[in-house]
Parts: sequence; C-alpha cells; structure tokens
Amino acid sequence: MNQHLPMVALIGRPNVGKSTLFNRLIKRRVSITHDMAGVTRDSIFSEVRGETRTYMLIDTGGLVPDSSDEIEISIFDQAREAMAGADLILFIVDGRTGLHPQDEQVGQYLRQSGKEVRVLVNKVDGPEQEETLAADFYSLGFPLQCVSASHGFGMGDLREMIETALPKDECENVEQPQGGLKIALLGRPNAGKSSTINALLGKKRLMVSAEAGTTRDCVDVTVQRGGKTYTFVDTAGVRRKSKVIDSLEYFSVVHSMQAAKQADVVVLVLDIMDGVVGQDKRLLSFLDTEKVPFVIVVNKIDLLSKDQLAKTKKDLVDQFAFCAHVPVLYSSSVSMAGLGGLLPLIEKLWEQCGQRVTTGELNRLVKMVTERHQPPVMGGRRGKIYYMTQADSRPPTFVFFVNDEKLFHGSYVRYLENQLRKVFRMDKTPIRMVFRSSH
Ligand code: GDP
Ligand code: GDP
Repeated sequence: MNQHLPMVALIGRPNVGKSTLFNRLIKRRVSITHDMAGVTRDSIFSEVRGETRTYMLIDTGGLVPDSSDEIEISIFDQAREAMAGADLILFIVDGRTGLHPQDEQVGQYLRQSGKEVRVLVNKVDGPEQEETLAADFYSLGFPLQCVSASHGFGMGDLREMIETALPKDECENVEQPQGGLKIALLGRPNAGKSSTINALLGKKRLMVSAEAGTTRDCVDVTVQRGGKTYTFVDTAGVRRKSKVIDSLEYFSVVHSMQAAKQADVVVLVLDIMDGVVGQDKRLLSFLDTEKVPFVIVVNKIDLLSKDQLAKTKKDLVDQFAFCAHVPVLYSSSVSMAGLGGLLPLIEKLWEQCGQRVTTGELNRLVKMVTERHQPPVMGGRRGKIYYMTQADSRPPTFVFFVNDEKLFHGSYVRYLENQLRKVFRMDKTPIRMVFRSSH
C-alpha cells in the first residue's frame, strides 16, 4: 500500500531539550534510523510506532546545513523547513529560562502558517512546577503541554496528543493500486516529474486538484502499455512540490526514501539544465547503497542544441560513473523524445532484478573468469574462490565462498561484477556480492 508516514517536526532554540526529547520519544520504538552522509551528523529522524499511529519524528535542530562550515541551524530555518514539510510541529521551549524573544518571533511566524502546532514547555520536572513554568508561554497562542524530557514527566500525555493531532490518513480509504509495477518518480521540484507522467498518460491528469490541506492525499495513477499495467505511486508527493522549499530539503529526502522503499522501481528525474546538484547527489547515493532498482531520466533535452546535448551527456557520464550500471534515458516531456523507451526500460530492469542463475552456471563462470584472471596475491597468499551461489533476488545477491574474504576487494571484485553482469545479462540491475571465508 502506498502510504507515507506523517511527519512530526521538533523545533526549538539550542539547549531547550530537543535531542533529549527526540531520544525519549523514539525509545524502544525505533524501527529504522538512517544516517545520511552530508545531511546529518547524528540520526535526526526515526520512525515512531505509537499506540494508534506510526509517524516519522524529525529533530530539525540536529541538522547541519549542507555546507562545510558547521554553523548551527537557526530556529527560523527549522521553522521554515518544518512549515514546508511537517504535518505537526512541536515547538519546544525552555520552562526554566522562560519566554525568549526568539520564541515570540517564531511563534508569530508559525501562527501565519496555518499548520498544526503544539508548544511543549520542557524542563518542567514535576507536576508541582507546571503552573508557574507554563504561564509565560500561553501568549504564544498554541495549545500547550508541559513535559520533562530528561525525567519523563508528561510523556504519556505527549504521546497521546501527538497521535490525536496528526492529520487523518485518507490513504486508508483509497483504492488499492490496480496492480502492475509500482513506480515512484523522485527528483527535485521542477525537474519535470509531473510533466513526465502526464506525457506518458497522454493527457493532463496531474496538478488538477487543489493543494492538499490537512488531510494527506495519496494518488496513484495507472497507465497501461503493451498489455501491461504500471502504477505511478505517490503522485500526491509529486503534486505537493510547490510547497517544498529546496534548501536543506531533508523533508523531501526523507519522503523520497520512503517512496523508494515502497516502489518496485524508482525513476530519478533530473533537469538537464541543472545537472546533478544538491539533493540529487544524496538521492543517487542513497538509491545506490540501498540497492534500489532505478533509472535516471534526464529531462528537458528540448532546451539544448544537438551539440550542447552531446557535450552535456559527456559531462554527466562522469557524474554517474559510481553507479555505471544504472540506465540513463535522455528525454523531453515537451517533444516526447526518449519517453517511449521509459516503460520498456523499467520492465527490463525489473526483470533483471528478479533474475535467478543456477549454481551450475555460476560455477562454470567462476572457472572461466579465474582461469582468465587469477585472484590477486596479498601477503604471500593467493585468493581462491571455492564456489559461489545466488542467495537471493531483488536484487540478485551472490555469495562467493573463498579461502579468505580479505583477499577480495577493489579491482578484482569489479572484474567479477563486470563478468557476472555481462555473462548473465544483468547490466542494469543493482547486484549484491558477498565474500565469505570458508576454511
Ligand atoms: P537541544 O539543544 O535542544 O537538542 O537540547 P538537549 O536535548 O541537548 O538538552 C540541553 C540540556 O538541557 C541538556 O543538558 C539536557 O540534559 C537538559 N535537559 C533536557 N531536557 C530536560 C528536562 O526535562 N529537565 C531538565 N532539568 N533538563 C533537561
Ligand atoms: P515537477 O516539480 O518535477 O513535477 O516538475 P513539473 O512537471 O511540474 O515541471 C516543472 C516545469 O518544467 C514546468 O514549467 C514544465 O512545463 C517544465 N518542463 C517539464 N518537462 C519539460 C521538458 O521536457 N522540457 C521543457 N522545456 N520544459 C519542461
């Protein structure tokens, strides 16, 4: 089922207790955490399974802007990001220091947003302090609750409040996708995701309805081609783009990661005029390391001359070198150039990703490739492959049983991978290779 978790953002000035609260809320309830290089130093988001709802909790203050100087992200940046992407904002204030002028300014900013906001007065370490410490903060104009992140006071009420305040999920009533491959289009705002889907549909279907309000709308769009069904999932996310601010972008990155996990195949759409920038790099490396089957679509080629296009393609080859197996399609949703190839390419990729190779075939390959190039010698020992087998598919996962796994890395592993891809026609799919010492 195509369903995005609602996002709950913690915002607040430094030292009010955001990370303490974050850790308490996710305690024993963590099912996934991710550290994304280049975005965060610490885990700043985590799935929380509550009594009635599951949501994504995000500590916006734990982020460092995507730059080399590690200046602290201001509460205003946090608020701006949260307004762009969160379903519920928890505005943490420090009950011990009282109302700070910045809290007031941010409060005013948040009031204009029309978002669901709750004020949490933290460091209220027991019920007896509640009245005195909270009094200051009613002027912010939001429903307010007292908590102690470090002592645990008020946590039960807090959990309940979060779950009740989350927008109702309309996805529960939405029809199941009509089957076929589930495809998610990712990419920065304005790359041309909606236009690409529209071009494939042959008629205007997206961007028609009003912006999503407090309820979360999930729209799956189905297209039939060549007797097959394809479902574009999360087109609501595609449509909501106009609200997404392209700055730190972590909400959209978190969102994209969820979409990628739920789809069968991902299409990463890039704007040829921009190339690979910011968020694209993060998404590319995420998709690559997570072994998600994906295709890169470089859109808007109609804007370049033939010569410019040839030059740009050459430049992009270097950018994609680290994931050389990923198919790249150059297209235009205006002229339709290239788009006819997209669904067949996706089909091919999906097929390769589910491919199985017998142990017999694999061991014939081992014999052939090691005869042609022996494994390297290191520290006086030569690597030896005893046998190999395919342990899994989607993605194809190959286990090599070897004399010493430490002897297998670098160029020899790349050689094995290239041979595997060539011989078994798996040039487009991600694959996993595992080396296991067996003595
Ligand atoms: P952040 O900068 O907003 O993430 O704040 P931290 O979570 O790092 O907390 C800042 C300081 O406040 C730390 O020394 C915490 O131990 C302390 N602190 C956090 N929550 C509470 C609380 O509920 N009561 C008290 N007394 N101290 C707290
Ligand atoms: P999304 O935010 O990724 O869904 O992007 P849209 O599909 O809304 O497209 C953003 C803008 O780029 C719109 O103004 C489109 O008309 C334009 N656009 C999309 N695809 C193309 C294309 O192939 N060529 C040109 N020239 N413009 C395009």
